[in-house]
Amino acid sequence: MNESVRADALNAGKMPALPQPKDAAAVILLRPSTDPNNPEVYWVKRSTKLAFLGGYRAFPGGQRESLDSEVRVRNCGDEERAAMISCAARELFEEVGVLLARGSKTLTVGQRASLFDDLESKRMTWPQLLNHFGLQLDANDFTFVGRWLTPAKQEPRVTEDSELESGEWIAARDAYEKWQRSEIIVVPPVLHVMKTLAAGITVDLIERFLSIPEANREPTRRIEFHPNYICFPLRTPTKPPATHTNCYLIYTTKEILIVDPGSPYEDEQVALAECVDDFIRHGWLSPREIILTHAHPDHVAGVNALNDYLEKNHGRRIPVAAHRLTAESLKGQFDVDRFIEDGELIELDGSPGITLRVLHTPGHARGHLCVHDERTGALISGDNIVGYGSVLIDPPEGNMRDYLASLARMRALRNLSVLFGGHGPAIANPYEKIDEYIAHRLQRENLILAAVDGLVKKAPRGFVPEC
Ligand SMILES: [Zn+2]
Repeated sequence: MNESVRADALNAGKMPALPQPKDAAAVILLRPSTDPNNPEVYWVKRSTKLAFLGGYRAFPGGQRESLDSEVRVRNCGDEERAAMISCAARELFEEVGVLLARGSKTLTVGQRASLFDDLESKRMTWPQLLNHFGLQLDANDFTFVGRWLTPAKQEPRVTEDSELESGEWIAARDAYEKWQRSEIIVVPPVLHVMKTLAAGITVDLIERFLSIPEANREPTRRIEFHPNYICFPLRTPTKPPATHTNCYLIYTTKEILIVDPGSPYEDEQVALAECVDDFIRHGWLSPREIILTHAHPDHVAGVNALNDYLEKNHGRRIPVAAHRLTAESLKGQFDVDRFIEDGELIELDGSPGITLRVLHTPGHARGHLCVHDERTGALISGDNIVGYGSVLIDPPEGNMRDYLASLARMRALRNLSVLFGGHGPAIANPYEKIDEYIAHRLQRENLILAAVDGLVKKAPRGFVPEC
């Protein structure tokens, strides 16, 4: 049984914050370990250089390609399912060199390498290659929690120059515990798999796999990229290409903070209020404060609605806290109950205790705040750094010099592990991302300087360029 590997195709890749999700498949390779209740899974770390989900732990996988629908899959009458199986098998082979196809056992290591080369160099397409070597994909090898099969002795290995940085076998429980200690960030379906497997392989495994929303095709509203931090993307009229603004719920066993409830749409406001309500109904959680990172409408438009809901259903409103300059901009819309100063600590009672340091980081907006969890290294970066789309610096509210100083201040924080931006998925490669933002801004500044310089040189004598 030691060489047994179980393959399992999962639908992944439906980030709610992104428009038009694309079909993708991931493959979970499993092998028994010395502890029968704690199997090992093979996971990979995505390159920190990747713009999308860089630095995340994931299972080998990727997007469906048009040729996947041309692959014939044995024991599969459903065309869509067959294409997803082809996608899963192809991605597994491309990314870690494991070929899950009937007939692959007879291939030598050298043959597999040349096959890989044919595919990489596009000498042959995936369907051609399977046909040429008489290989056959079989749906029975890829059912949701598939059956055990024994491929030839294939050891997965991350190929060079791929989008992956590394790959390793790890016991499922160890993987889940790493996440609980905030040491890693994983894509949501991976978290679900780790959590499920960490409870051991027992007869109810399939039900457990299916019982959690992340495993289904429905986009999940509450995403927990990090323990005790829930990202709740809300549809807002924000700056395209972003379509949602992230509201964050930071919770302990006793308290909850709500950051940026920003949707003006009633259905979205109700969804968020019901999520907060869920926490309150657990009995021991009390909402402590609503914190606003800044005054832009797509970050504040749901404050009143949330408080109206809580007043109606629980007889109380939650105080709103923000920077003094944010409060100034919001005058007339609603009152800010408490001003937050730069460097202030917010301590959440309960387990685990969470201590947050608030930083005043102007640039995108005058009163912009970031919230830093110094123990785990998580940083709510608001609209200073976002996981999707770009950041607008629009004077007089925006100020480029302040913005660059704020980025430098964020860059100087020690132990940053993840950025939770106002839009898009969490950023698992914080330092690389901040460097990229700084470089991008400086490059734009240099282009402007060069353009101005050119104007001055070309200008007739006595001409003073407008600034
Ligand atoms: Zn903004």
